[in-house]
Amino acid sequence: METIRCGNCRKKLAEAEFIRLSIKCPRCGVINQLKAVEPLISMPRASENEVLYDKSNHPLDRR
Ligand SMILES: [Zn+2]
Repeated sequence: METIRCGNCRKKLAEAEFIRLSIKCPRCGVINQLKAVEPLISMPRASENEVLYDKSNHPLDRR
């Protein structure tokens, strides 16, 4: 969980887990756009690369 605070007045807006979030501050009306840099996002891509690597191994196996 991450505490989301207004970038303008520092008011606490929410506590959440997020990738991308757009939240309007009720106090000052500033729209806060937040982006979480999660290492989890790159994980599905790594498994995709493994599949591609496995395919390139097959022609060698056939001869
Ligand atoms: Zn605010």
